[in-house]
Amino acid sequence: MARTTTLQSVRPIAALLLCAGLLTGTAQAQTAVAPAAPAAPAAATAPTAAAPSQARKANIVIVGTGGTIAGAGASAINTAAYQSAVVPVDKIIASVPEISKVANVKGEQIFQIGSESFNNERLLKLGKRVSELLKQPDVDGVVITHGTDTIEETAYFLNLTLKSDKPVVVVGSMRPGTALGADGALNLYDAVLVASSPESKGKGTLVVLNDEIHTGRDVTKSNTFKTETFRSPFGPLGYVVEGRTIYYRLPARPHTTATEWDIDRIDRLPEVAIVYAYGNANPGSVDAAVKNGAKAIVYAGTGNGSVGEYMVEPLKAARAKGVQIVRASRTGSGVVIRNGEQPDDKYDWVVVDDQLPQKARILTALALTKTNDTRELQKILWKY
Ligand code: ASP
Repeated sequence: MARTTTLQSVRPIAALLLCAGLLTGTAQAQTAVAPAAPAAPAAATAPTAAAPSQARKANIVIVGTGGTIAGAGASAINTAAYQSAVVPVDKIIASVPEISKVANVKGEQIFQIGSESFNNERLLKLGKRVSELLKQPDVDGVVITHGTDTIEETAYFLNLTLKSDKPVVVVGSMRPGTALGADGALNLYDAVLVASSPESKGKGTLVVLNDEIHTGRDVTKSNTFKTETFRSPFGPLGYVVEGRTIYYRLPARPHTTATEWDIDRIDRLPEVAIVYAYGNANPGSVDAAVKNGAKAIVYAGTGNGSVGEYMVEPLKAARAKGVQIVRASRTGSGVVIRNGEQPDDKYDWVVVDDQLPQKARILTALALTKTNDTRELQKILWKY
């Protein structure tokens, strides 16, 4: 469903927000909103989550980037048509006073954008700032408020590049705070709970929405408007239920401290394009990607990464120019088999494991910061 962002709709929303005092925050480091903290909730209802707060409440920094969780609609029935990225992070935090019972929180606004506007520069800026925060001894974890459209790309990127085992949780919402049935407040509360839980340490970058805890590696947005849109092919790692953080599984693939990337040492990401397969696809899209400076093309092929006969030559030509060709699938799940639908050995192409094209773009860009050797690239795609 389209997000309404016309000028006509923005003005009344801005007026509404100004009346409500929601647009008055500044864009720089917000001060802690948590007032004097009431006692922690009873352990009987929150055994795991309450554990850290019984000894001492965790210090959590909430980094705001925008998205629907910072959105507002013209009326309460606007659950899917609204203006995203307008409410400052300190105002969002202040609207969920329950948070102060579980953690000492401090807000910091790094961007105020819809997540569809993320790019490599913003990804790097966010990652470096989160890394700085995690190094501070008085910071126990970081929560990032983020639009849901590309939350999975940011989470995967952080999962692969942060060098800390402190919890990092990316959270969003599908409905703005002004809507009936708004989901942002509970999602944010849950995200802070998860980031405060010692059990979340060493699990990589997590995504929390709709009562579920997902690993940044696997999670993907699967529906345009429903609150139960986030899925991982093998299920979530755990749940958040009434203040309890409950884990059932662990991420199997290396992440954070166990990877070969360190966000502090990455200043640029190579250009990686995605070319989407469809009937009657235009072979010129491959050339366009090469002309635009792509160092690799993730080919979102049909089925098991199949490549239409009219696309084979352009992709071979791109490889001959030094551009890496990564076969992925547009199906949304499953493993792409090397030398299955195409002779990858012969063409010197590589395949993804089960990464979706948008996640393969992140992993390929990171891989290219280390190697341009096809065999090494293939190993990296299979490893993470
Ligand atoms: N377009 C919005 C964003 O990704 C959608 C959302 O947050 O749900 O920023």
